[in-house]
This record gives sequence, C-alpha cells and structure tokens, in this order.
Amino acid sequence: NHMLEVKNLHARVAEAEPEKPILKGVNLSIPEGEIHVIMGQNGSGKSTLASVLAGQEDYEITDGEVLFKGQDLLSLEPEARAAAGVFLAFQNPVELPGVNNANFLRTSVNAVRKARGQEELDAISFLKFSRAKAKELAMPEDMLKRMVNVGFSGGEKKRNEVLQMSLLEPSFAILDETDSGLDIDALRIVAGGIGRLQSEHFSALIITHHQRLLDYLEPNRIHIMAQGKIVHSAGPELAKQLEQEGYNRFLKEEMA
Ligand code: ADP
Ligand code: MG
Ligand code: MG
Repeated sequence: NHMLEVKNLHARVAEAEPEKPILKGVNLSIPEGEIHVIMGQNGSGKSTLASVLAGQEDYEITDGEVLFKGQDLLSLEPEARAAAGVFLAFQNPVELPGVNNANFLRTSVNAVRKARGQEELDAISFLKFSRAKAKELAMPEDMLKRMVNVGFSGGEKKRNEVLQMSLLEPSFAILDETDSGLDIDALRIVAGGIGRLQSEHFSALIITHHQRLLDYLEPNRIHIMAQGKIVHSAGPELAKQLEQEGYNRFLKEEMA
C-alpha cells in the first residue's frame, strides 16, 4: 500500500508574472512504513514540493495528481490534510511574537483532534501531554512558556517543529531541512522523534543536505531532485555517494 503517490506534478508560483513554473513533472511513490529522502542542490524545488504537499497557498498546481492513502490530496484544505495525518516541519519556522508556544501547540493539536472526532484537550491535560513529550525529546520545559520561536536559536526552532510533530502524531511527516544547523545532540533528538513514530503505518519524506541524520535513521530510498523533477532514485548508499562525489554525475545524466 502507498502512503503517497505523486504523479507528474507540475506547479508554479501563484502570483508570478511572467509565469514561473517550479515543479516540472515530479513522480514519487512512498509505500507505507518507509522513510524516503530527497536531496538536491539549492533551488531545485524541494521546499516547493513540501509546501505543495502541505497545501500552502503560494503555489498553483498546473498538472498531475497526488494521492495520500489513495485519496486525492490536492483537493483538501491544509487543515483537512493535517487532520488526515500529513505534517510538514518547515525549513524556516515562523516567529509569532505575542503567541504563547504552549497555546499555539494546543491549538494545532486540538484542531487535528477535533477534525478526527476526538475530544479536545483542556489546558491542564495538554500541559501534561506536552511536558511528557518535551521530556522524551530532552527539550527544556520553559520552551513551552515562551512565545512561538521568538528568540529561539536555529536549533531550538527545529526542535520545536519536532515537538509539534510528536504531539500531532502524523502518519506522514515531511521534514524540510530540519537537521540543518543542528549539533549532534539535537540531531539525535530529531532522529529520535521520527524513530518514535516509526511503524508500518508511518512514512516520512526527509529533505536534507547531509548524510549525518541518515546515520541515525535508516531510509529506504534516496531521491535526487534537479530542476523541478526527481532525476534519480536509489537505495540508502546513494546518500554517502553524493556526500563524496556531489551531484554533477546525476545532473549530467539528466542533461544528456
Ligand atoms: P529548494 O528547497 O530545493 O532549495 P525551492 O523549492 O525553495 O528550492 O525553490 C525552487 C525555485 O523556486 C527557486 O528558484 C526559488 O527562488 C523559486 N521559488 C520558490 N518559491 C517561490 C515564490 N513564492 N516566489 C518566487 N519564486 C519562488
Ligand atoms: Mg534551499
Ligand atoms: Mg528548501
């Protein structure tokens, strides 16, 4: 069974004049239970693919389709996608001055619980739940009391994304460079957060530039993205090969 099937996906920036196509025929299938990785040079369209899957408004789909557990994903509003189990950890998490982190996290968790027909968590039960998760992730509890990402270091923002993921318990997680700029301890935390969700009913799409995270997680498949397409896919050995040799060989194959 497939968690995600992306077929001939084309997307462009919604408002751009002249038209700016970014995704130019992405094909990607992720079976249930598998962890897939996308690597690729800056500007190849990785974050755009992540945003399109999560339903961000900045992009217009011009062709192709996306099935999530066999269901048409693109027709769902972002909230419905989250409720269906899709989670995106952003490459650049936003700062929300004036918004308390615990309240923010509770709102996102309750929106998903409500859409799933589950009881919403009151402030006290949520505090218990979020403290337990923060502890699991070795995150200082006071991050919950602060304003969302305000004054957080790069690494703390990434950890906060992982905390949100852990609280939402998605069936499909997209992590967009969540490992960038992390020290070894934080990297283990990110890997551990994914590890705790791993099951035959969970899949992940990890966008990364580094082999390092993959030392802690065993991906099933590595894909290379270039100029808005997946141009090469192979087993986990490809990540090491790219680290040593760079992308050139695969880009040349694409040009030929
Ligand atoms: P990657 O994540 O692989 O580095 P992106 O998906 O962020 O690449 O970007 C791919 C290309 O699309 C880049 O040239 C980028 O400048 C452009 N792009 C992405 N989003 C927008 C946008 N909202 N407006 C204009 N250009 C965009
Ligand atoms: Mg980039
Ligand atoms: Mg990016």
